[in-house]
Amino acid sequence: MNHLLAFCRRRPHALNLLVLLLFYLATSSTAPGATTLAAKGKTAFRIVIPSDAIPAERYAAEELQRYLEKISGVHLLIVSDSERPVREEILLGNNTHLHKLAPDFAKLGTDGFALKADHHHLVIAGGRPRGTLNGVYTLLEENLGVRWFTSELEMVPPTNRVVLPVINQVRIPALEYREVFWTEMMRDGDFAARHRLNGPNCHLSAKHGGAAVVYFPFVHSMDSLVPPELYETHPEYFPLIKGKRVNGYVQRCLSNPDVLKMSIARVRQWIKEHPDANIISVSQNDTGKWCQCEQCKAFDDEEGTPAASMIRFVNAIAADLERDYPKIRIDTLAYQYTRKPPKSLRPHRNVIIRLCSIECCFAHPLASCSSEENRRFREDIIAWQPVAPKLYIWDYTPNFGHYQQPFPNFDAIQPNVQFFVQHGVQGLFEQGNYSGGGNGELGPLRAYLLAKLLWNPDTDLRHHTEEFLKAYYGNASVQIQQYLDLLEAQVREGKAHAHIFDSSKAAYLNDGFLHSADEILTRAETASQDDAVRFRVQVARLPVWYVQLATGRVSGSGRADLLTRFLEVARKAGVSNISENQSLDAWAKKISQ
Ligand SMILES: [Zn+2]
Ligand SMILES: [Zn+2]
Repeated sequence: MNHLLAFCRRRPHALNLLVLLLFYLATSSTAPGATTLAAKGKTAFRIVIPSDAIPAERYAAEELQRYLEKISGVHLLIVSDSERPVREEILLGNNTHLHKLAPDFAKLGTDGFALKADHHHLVIAGGRPRGTLNGVYTLLEENLGVRWFTSELEMVPPTNRVVLPVINQVRIPALEYREVFWTEMMRDGDFAARHRLNGPNCHLSAKHGGAAVVYFPFVHSMDSLVPPELYETHPEYFPLIKGKRVNGYVQRCLSNPDVLKMSIARVRQWIKEHPDANIISVSQNDTGKWCQCEQCKAFDDEEGTPAASMIRFVNAIAADLERDYPKIRIDTLAYQYTRKPPKSLRPHRNVIIRLCSIECCFAHPLASCSSEENRRFREDIIAWQPVAPKLYIWDYTPNFGHYQQPFPNFDAIQPNVQFFVQHGVQGLFEQGNYSGGGNGELGPLRAYLLAKLLWNPDTDLRHHTEEFLKAYYGNASVQIQQYLDLLEAQVREGKAHAHIFDSSKAAYLNDGFLHSADEILTRAETASQDDAVRFRVQVARLPVWYVQLATGRVSGSGRADLLTRFLEVARKAGVSNISENQSLDAWAKKISQ
């Protein structure tokens, strides 16, 4: 830089030339390779879709048209590739106008795409069904600055000139199945699709390319496979525990041949009744209580884990179905008592193992936290990776016992998604606050960041956080960021671990934290520029108030006032539940006693 300035000082004429050249490069529509999609209210481009476009490709064209118009005011035409090519075209999908620009579609899979921009052409060509739509959203987000922060809050930067640099990339997502199970991502299929999520709970329809995986049932299917009522006539179908066949919410005796026969018949019936399902869940009930009869126990002991009886049972079903239904997979859990894989038994090739991280510390990365839980989880995922034909993860991201309680896991969410991908995981279900009515502890932010990570585990999460906070909390974003830093500081350097069923007395929710948090969030409320932002800040304060109320830190009339304030904001924000099993009203009744 110094050299250049010195050079220019001696030769002022050269400086002028340089400035002119830079100006030209920055503004010229004929800069080498740049693609000017629209300028001064005009465009030379039109959007071309295949004549046999599927609904998601047609919708991709409409979304691109809609957002280019929002950005530039220019309305592009959508035409079919049966029309004769013109010089400037935006080519979507597997398009006959592509010629030499065509990517290798077979490599793109169902969700990947090629993105090319080179002067006269913009190519967004993806695999079916979701690739082209994913490509449109990626272009809008990464190249044109569009953001979908919540289903109601989007950002579209307007410009007179829509110019793209030379782009030539192929993008195939690291995860084939991406699901954020937070209410904020489960309300609106359009919003979930814009985040390129593809899970069965995202409300995706044909225009979004549908869901990548369609489960039936979703999980914990033992009661449906072998109904509990059969206990009366066939106690031998049920688990032997401490010498007695038990009923209630329990597992089944998986060495019993009739249990297997009945389960195969039931799965075949499900497949007929749910022709859309491509994954059938044959999975343990959400409890322990597995069978320890002589046959079950002998096999489990030999294989070193009760997962052995489960996998042998699942394998028998999977093998039976394989010939008739080659595209269907059987999913089972590696969860709690079945988390450790068998020594030598291998899951059949059409089986998915869904490994669950429920016991782990989420304050620190799974890869590096010193806790015994995380050490064991590392051991299990390393053992499953080479033997699971397909490995999915059921991961956990809120405090699940207290939806409104501060959960210090922001530092760990990115390393954890990266850790899963590094261990061969192909599907990630991020368990969130799905039944609290929305607006759980920083729910909108969490849902947004998780969606970003599932699409691209290496994305710049700090940048996304900053953008979100600025857009959502406006003038109060500085304080909300301070609050996030304060929360994370409680667990940094291994000070305390954090688990999803931590009580309100957890070490990281100490007096010092609550005092500083309250002070920062009071300032945030004062800094809010309008009622909408102020209300969002009040919703962000609920978790701190929740702990103050739950631990009796505020007493006397102050307590009644705080509860009134908490309930007023919570109800206005649509909060209905404080945990999976407790409504807001039931909690309020308990807390006011
Ligand atoms: Zn048994
Ligand atoms: Zn930890």
